[in-house]
Amino acid sequence: MKAEEYRQTDTIENSHAPKDAEPTTMQLNAAVLKELNFANREDFEDAQRGLIAPPASAVIKGADGHDVWNLQTYDFLKRKDAPATVNPSLWRQAQINMNAGLFKVVERVYQVRGLDLSNMTIIESDSGVIIIDPLISTEVARAALDLYYQYRGKRRVIAVIYTHSHIDHFGGVKGVIDEADVKTGKVKILAPERFMEAAVSENVTAGTAMSRRAHYWYGVMLPRGERGQVDAGLGKASSMGTITLIAPTDVITKTGEKRSIDGVEMVFQMAPDTEAPAEMTIFFPKFKVFDSAELACHTLHNVLTLRGAQVRDASKWAFYLNEAIAMHGDQIEVLIAQHHWPRWGRDRSIKFLKDQRDMYKYVHDQTLRLANEGYTMAEIGPMLKLPTTLARHWYARDYYGTANHNAKAVYQKYLGWYDMNPANLNPLPPEESAKNYVRYMGGAKAVIAQAREDFKKGEYRWVAQAINQVVFADPNNQEARNLQADALEQLGYQAEGSTWRNNYLTAAYELRNGVPATPTTASPDVLTALTIPMFFDFMGVRLNGPKADGMVIVLNWDFTDVGEKYVLNLENSALTYMPNQQAPNADATFTLTRAALDAITLERTTFEKEIAAGNIKIQGNGKKFGELTSLLDDFKGGFNIVTP
Ligand SMILES: [Zn+2]
Repeated sequence: MKAEEYRQTDTIENSHAPKDAEPTTMQLNAAVLKELNFANREDFEDAQRGLIAPPASAVIKGADGHDVWNLQTYDFLKRKDAPATVNPSLWRQAQINMNAGLFKVVERVYQVRGLDLSNMTIIESDSGVIIIDPLISTEVARAALDLYYQYRGKRRVIAVIYTHSHIDHFGGVKGVIDEADVKTGKVKILAPERFMEAAVSENVTAGTAMSRRAHYWYGVMLPRGERGQVDAGLGKASSMGTITLIAPTDVITKTGEKRSIDGVEMVFQMAPDTEAPAEMTIFFPKFKVFDSAELACHTLHNVLTLRGAQVRDASKWAFYLNEAIAMHGDQIEVLIAQHHWPRWGRDRSIKFLKDQRDMYKYVHDQTLRLANEGYTMAEIGPMLKLPTTLARHWYARDYYGTANHNAKAVYQKYLGWYDMNPANLNPLPPEESAKNYVRYMGGAKAVIAQAREDFKKGEYRWVAQAINQVVFADPNNQEARNLQADALEQLGYQAEGSTWRNNYLTAAYELRNGVPATPTTASPDVLTALTIPMFFDFMGVRLNGPKADGMVIVLNWDFTDVGEKYVLNLENSALTYMPNQQAPNADATFTLTRAALDAITLERTTFEKEIAAGNIKIQGNGKKFGELTSLLDDFKGGFNIVTP
């Protein structure tokens, strides 16, 4: 079909709506049904085992009436067989993740699953309960605990444990306990070493970029449905409610460290720099239950998430899983994690841990083997396939991480982004090179015409690559945008990974409809948990270097309530600070409280108002601070991704 003909039939209406699966996609998805062992229903059985009650409601609302959580939108997953627009393996995972409610794991160990991306584990202690990982938002955390109370009776929360520093494992804490009870010592909070630093820094320093990327990653803006978001790999989605944080009162630092809380004995294992920078597993000798936190779930996890994070250590990940087997292998009867469903039985649990260990070790070692043989990141990604002895297991599939992007992560960790071919050392930036490519390729029309032929042949990866040049050369070429969207959409329909699917389909959505408004709301609890050095670090990230060219500003800070002093130094367009010092030649000295700083950060007041109220005292030239803040960028978040 010629380009002109296409234009006539491609009306605005049908170009904006998601399309059906193309024949190639149908064939590929049908082939998956033969490739994998769909007759094995053990995961369905495990995910249903011990169900006490489903959630009281499939929809949980926030105070302002918006949906914090909505399982109803996933009703389409009740259809038994996968539609042609969803990879059957992902469809299967998406169906299992629909098992929601209160579950009994063993005597005294319960889980609420399917009320958020993560699980809340509830341990019955002698006189109350210990809560492990209170979900992302207070609204769902409260609903989860209420569901437990409804069927097990009301019991006091004795302690909360955060297994690691990701938001889906702490954000709902104020839905299950009062901060006042933590302050008086009535409720303990346990967490691994470096928890606070990791929890806070990940959400702030690169927060705006990460949050925009996370919309692609989880498919936040996509409608739920056969042509939209079906799952998030680890669970259905992230809840969208009130995020809170209370600092731990008891920090675990050593492997083998034990705690006995209200009659429940726990043995901890430190697993830093694996799935999270601060993470630990927990073994309960009395219940013979091992909680792997997020080290072993029913998926291949991420060595580097596509939303962005610091790259993880696949080799250490394997080591800690091996260590867990060595520590508790002769005692484990049930394995639980803070996502997905448990595995019962020692042999099944150990087999699972061993396979998980080997998945990460394989990805790590084989990537480096191939790198040492001269292959580059772009080559190793698609080359790296798990061995059949692993890949045949459902828990080794690509639902959240993929072997492809994990291999690239290992390459990045050891060798970085550069493939050592200087043609790639300093290429023209995307827009400029796209214009040249399109010129060499005979112009946009010629590229589109050829790409249409390849689209018909099912060459979607190539079409996406080629048409990307046309879109970047001319983002107003809606015909190119639509064809690009069509190609990415087919790739999304084929993807086994939920995260890949969400990425492709979000890109298709934005190419067709533009970038939707994506408000980024920083949680007050996370902001006030920033240390003062982190606060200055974030200021440094916001400093507009070119604007600050040639400026020198030196400010002393004296935070009286916390007894901390700093010199903040702007020089060479770089903002640095030194604790425990005051510069004699400073432009100004500010004396204030940390509480006043928090109020300003949360925009409850302004710097000027606090000065006027006498809450900030100034010696020297106070205007210098205003000069500094005028150099700071405000991040908006809704930046373009699939267009220049
Ligand atoms: Zn998690």
